Amino acid sequence: LRYSNNYTTLTRNELIQAVQSQMSQKRFQHVLGVEQTAVELAEKYGASNEAASIAALTHDYAKERSDKEMQELIYREQFDLELLEYGSNIWHGPLGAFLVEQELGISDSDILNAIKYHTIGAPEMTILEQVIYVADYIEPGRNFPSVEKARKIAAENLQAAVQYETKQTLQHLIEKNRKIYPKTIATYNKWVANP
Ligand code: GDP
Ligand code: FE
Ligand code: FE
Ligand code: FE
Repeated sequence: LRYSNNYTTLTRNELIQAVQSQMSQKRFQHVLGVEQTAVELAEKYGASNEAASIAALTHDYAKERSDKEMQELIYREQFDLELLEYGSNIWHGPLGAFLVEQELGISDSDILNAIKYHTIGAPEMTILEQVIYVADYIEPGRNFPSVEKARKIAAENLQAAVQYETKQTLQHLIEKNRKIYPKTIATYNKWVANP
């Protein structure tokens, strides 16, 4: 996939270098899996494959930043202070979108929102946002009980895949007695309880 210059002045190889420098080899392999799946879903469901590639490559850009750096960013950039009650799992979406814009110069709002919402979803999601949310869950390296069913659903119906993933994630978090971020509930209410 050759980039057109519409979304970034970097080549795909340059973007890959920038992303790889931010993370472990294992996470980088996950990112490449998300890219492959996201490009396929974008072509199937009608999003830009280039935007899907860029959003997928950058979606976990901030995941390995230190808690201290993330907490300082939340204060300095006036993110919702409720975020402080959570951790990197919740922060790396919204803060990742911010850092990808600042550090990589990507400004397309659909790409930035796809990064921002890739963990928790949102009541309204564009096709690209849905593609990244689902690709993150079903990329070839994922291996958990519900992933096969999620892949089957994603091959048929993107919205149904968002719905399935949202329900599975919430169930999993409750099973593990994890604190639920309220926006995760808002996503559930819109996509699962009131589809
Ligand atoms: P990854 O970055 O590729 O590992 O995947 P995600 O960004 O989608 O998710 C990161 C982690 O956050 C996963 O373990 C999710 O289960 C978890 N997560 C998603 N929503 C919530 C929530 O509301 N509360 C908590 N505590 N964790 C969540
Ligand atoms: Fe993530
Ligand atoms: Fe996810
Ligand atoms: Fe991810």
